[in-house]
Amino acid sequence: MSARKDNGTMVYFTEDREQIGKALALCNIAAFAGQMVAVKLHMGEPGNPYIVKPELARSIVDSVRGAGGVPFLLDSVVAYAGERSYRRGYEKVAQRHGFTHEAMGCEVIIADEGVRVVEAGVALEVVTPMYDSQCMVVLSHVKGHIQAGFGGAIKNLGMGGVTKASKNLIHHNAEPVHNPDECTLCGICAEACPMGAISVDDEWHIDRDCCPGCGKCVLSCNTGALTFKVMSLNEGLAISARACTAGKTALYVNSLHNIADVCDCDPNPRQIICPDIGYLIGADAAAVDAATLDIIDAVRPGVFKQSTGVDPRPQVSHAVALGMNDHYSLQRL
Ligand code: SF4
Ligand code: SF4
Repeated sequence: MSARKDNGTMVYFTEDREQIGKALALCNIAAFAGQMVAVKLHMGEPGNPYIVKPELARSIVDSVRGAGGVPFLLDSVVAYAGERSYRRGYEKVAQRHGFTHEAMGCEVIIADEGVRVVEAGVALEVVTPMYDSQCMVVLSHVKGHIQAGFGGAIKNLGMGGVTKASKNLIHHNAEPVHNPDECTLCGICAEACPMGAISVDDEWHIDRDCCPGCGKCVLSCNTGALTFKVMSLNEGLAISARACTAGKTALYVNSLHNIADVCDCDPNPRQIICPDIGYLIGADAAAVDAATLDIIDAVRPGVFKQSTGVDPRPQVSHAVALGMNDHYSLQRL
């Protein structure tokens, strides 16, 4: 396995879970000594079999503790209806999925409040336990995402590190604005909409109540008749990821296993679209996600774009525009 670029941050690849600790040590997890360390992960939508396994989370917790840090597991309540939309409900889900204090050897925190952080002119609420932590390990299951193209480290932080209100804001900013003067009534956007929110006959219509702001219609329109209300979902995710990491030291572990068609928030993630590959570990979210996309493209070229209809690369390029670094050297352990 060779590096895509040779002058950037190191990203480590291993097929062996036992080697993740070594990779974290090479990324200087020793700097976490004496610090509270949030281990940010998605603890699983009920019914989805592809979530990060508790054993993997425990191995990260042990690495943090071995480095002298004080780890705790962290996720936030979701913005859509269901058991994970409120703290007590998500705590029960986490327990059922094996993320208990006893099994993890540390606190398991579901956050529902945040602290205001302004990044790139967007005011967001970073969940309080994350805001208060100087150090983080971001543990991400890589999969497709119907609205963002794929989900990795940037997505895990950008949507998972903020409050419900900020999650909704990121989506609302990506809602479409229609210019009838540029519209040919071709209907392509209606076909692209996963929610059936758009209809086109002799006029263009949208049911705003059915629109979660994925932006697929905007990306599908060839005439410029549709624009984002404020910005694309992928740009919003990158800005939010920057807000979550501002002033912190963070390490990233991407798990390239059970790479499903759709994300961990879906109780039915549909089919596996790429075979298991391994783990990528590094100190920059953009570098780890760029390496993730490069490696998956080498195994299944263009698979996320084909399965979701959304190009996943802009998520990384927006993060780079905000100061992250997607240049990396890959080292196999
Ligand atoms: S894709 Fe664009 S041009 Fe076609 S109907 Fe939709 S908004 Fe109009
Ligand atoms: S933003 Fe997404 S859900 Fe909303 S109308 Fe466009 S394609 Fe449909």
